[in-house]
Amino acid sequence: MPSRYDILFRPIKIGPVTAPNRFYQVPHCNGFGWRMPKGLAAMRGMKAEGGWGVVCTEETEIHHTSDLSPFFEGHIWNDDDIPSLQMMTNAVHKHGALAGIELSYNGRDASNLYSRAVPFDLFSRGLVGGSGYEPGQSRAATKDDLKHIRKWHRNAAIRAKKAGFDIIYCYAAHNLTLAFHLMSKDNDRADEYGGSLENRTRFLRELIEDTKEAVGDTCAVAVRFAVDELLGADGMKFDGEAHDIVAMLAELPDLWDVNVSPWKNDSTTSRFEKEGNQEKYISFVKKLTTKPVVGVGRYTSPDSMVSAIERGIMDMIGAARPSIADPFLPNKIKAGRHEDIRECIGCNICVTGDTRFVPIRCTQNPTMGEEWRRNWHPEMIAPKKSEDEILIVGAGPAGLEAARALGQRGYHVVLTDAKREAGGRVALESALPNLNEWRRVIDWRLTQIQKIPNIYFYPSSPMTAKDILEAGAPHVILATGAKWRRDGMGRYLSRPVQGNAKIFAPDDFLESGGLPPVFQQQAAELQKILIYDDDHYYMGGVLAELLAQNGYEVTLVTPAPSISYWTQFTLEQDRILKRLHKLNVTLLADHFIASHTPTTATVTNVITSTESTLACDAIVMVTDRIPNDALYHELKPALVEGKLKSLRIIGDAEAPNIIAQAIFSGHLAAREFDELIDPDVTPFKVER
Ligand code: ADP
Ligand code: SF4
Repeated sequence: MPSRYDILFRPIKIGPVTAPNRFYQVPHCNGFGWRMPKGLAAMRGMKAEGGWGVVCTEETEIHHTSDLSPFFEGHIWNDDDIPSLQMMTNAVHKHGALAGIELSYNGRDASNLYSRAVPFDLFSRGLVGGSGYEPGQSRAATKDDLKHIRKWHRNAAIRAKKAGFDIIYCYAAHNLTLAFHLMSKDNDRADEYGGSLENRTRFLRELIEDTKEAVGDTCAVAVRFAVDELLGADGMKFDGEAHDIVAMLAELPDLWDVNVSPWKNDSTTSRFEKEGNQEKYISFVKKLTTKPVVGVGRYTSPDSMVSAIERGIMDMIGAARPSIADPFLPNKIKAGRHEDIRECIGCNICVTGDTRFVPIRCTQNPTMGEEWRRNWHPEMIAPKKSEDEILIVGAGPAGLEAARALGQRGYHVVLTDAKREAGGRVALESALPNLNEWRRVIDWRLTQIQKIPNIYFYPSSPMTAKDILEAGAPHVILATGAKWRRDGMGRYLSRPVQGNAKIFAPDDFLESGGLPPVFQQQAAELQKILIYDDDHYYMGGVLAELLAQNGYEVTLVTPAPSISYWTQFTLEQDRILKRLHKLNVTLLADHFIASHTPTTATVTNVITSTESTLACDAIVMVTDRIPNDALYHELKPALVEGKLKSLRIIGDAEAPNIIAQAIFSGHLAAREFDELIDPDVTPFKVER
């Protein structure tokens, strides 16, 4: 029967190759890189299995002079890299998808820490790769150097063809690569590569021409181009030079993959941007070329995808994060199972695989990155091994995922929660400013749970140890969460802060769905609020935002060297700072809280030990959390006495962490259920 979504499944010609449908996994980093090719190939292959018509690599270094260490990206430096890359193309081809490779030659954004080679750039300038502040400079690329780089790019394209790639990229996006830097207005070189826009675009044009000439007979040549840097007149602009560049090169590549730059603007979190946010920048491209256009915008809704194609914004739906959260998104749309799509929540935990140099992980998809080493499949799981019943206490992310996955295995699962609503911390946190998309963590799991008849969910059912034993289930999983500390103890302070100020913790805001009622009741006395953030992720900044939006005078103090320190790894820190500055929040890094009174807090500089006194009417402690593990300790004797066959504590109740870790913990408990786990054995394969 014809459907409104058929347009997404129409094959499309890209130069000499044909993609089977319109689902295009654009290049994305993953932390595996050249170091773990088996894990990488299995992850990419899973996307193809799930229906993505094109599956690409991450940026792949073409030469040792463009070494992106300490990050682990792809390598195609020489022929020795071909077998590893072939693992990926084979895994992708097995399911009828096309494999694309993003060839990358970076300028001063290659720190070359590993190769110790000198990077080339427009002129000699400070390196911005690695930490962003690596000592050292690039050297100005001469015309001969550019000739060499063209040759290396050509050789890499030939190797890529040998490795089996169907689509070969010339990369000029994310404010990375020499080709992109040469297009900058700052390029005032006196030779034919600088000055006029035509000259500045020459290198990219040559790369495209070289690549077409070398491999264009059988491979499509794609360009990834950032049409806007969101820097106004100082940078590339979609209605400025980017327009002219696309017009100049319009028919030269076989495909345009267009986005905004740098990465933090491309992969914006849901806290700052919504689905389809790049359309306004990229929509001009299709008007200038007859070649297929790919764009991204964290599309998870099949209707938005159809609309983007029908409105002529793009021909193929590009996705990194939606394909990570749900590798089977295309197949689910095809089967009309839209409600089963595990929608990305836009948290960028996946990005932290790259930025923390470890294999990719995902909040929504606990199997992401585990395809090879644990043999986990996002849609399939081993069937039950016994008829035993399992009682899960706590329906936060950990409990929900454990229940869902055990239910999928076929076990009889009873899930209880003290609250009327499932979701635990996620239900509460998603009510904070701009975090509403996080609800998808709960929504997807509840939808699945409703479909599984052997899972019984009992809300409004607080359980004591006695209740649990009386319930009679032989296996108990505790997913009872954690509560925020109020005494200031955390990473920095190992003793409670002394004082008698009015103290709040994030739980007060979470339980109230916003400002605690006392803020209204005592409006006159509560004006100046100090937030002490020793958590360093989103909570301190979000509460500062909430309070400042409601007219409070907020000071955010942290012992870390910068505000919301860890959000740099999710690419959010700049936007958080911008928002807090705009709301006039006073920001004080490098300080811990030493003591407090009802009207002041004494803070100490962590470097100089200098003390200062700040006026405040209340303090919000955003520090460590205390695991709710009392039930576990109460039930332990029942396990020893044989009244329970197994007892497991998971998620924040075991060890407070990010939501992704709670979901993972729940999933792991489900996978390991009825298995004999030897704690002396590493539970996954290790690539060496
Ligand atoms: P996690 O992130 O580990 O899933 P959460 O804090 O999000 O943890 O969720 C814990 C859930 O457990 C909450 O919804 C809470 O209401 C529930 N809970 C905690 N203790 C009990 C209990 N004794 N009986 C039933 N539910 C409980
Ligand atoms: Fe989306 Fe978050 Fe998963 Fe990344 S980690 S794919 S942003 S849900």
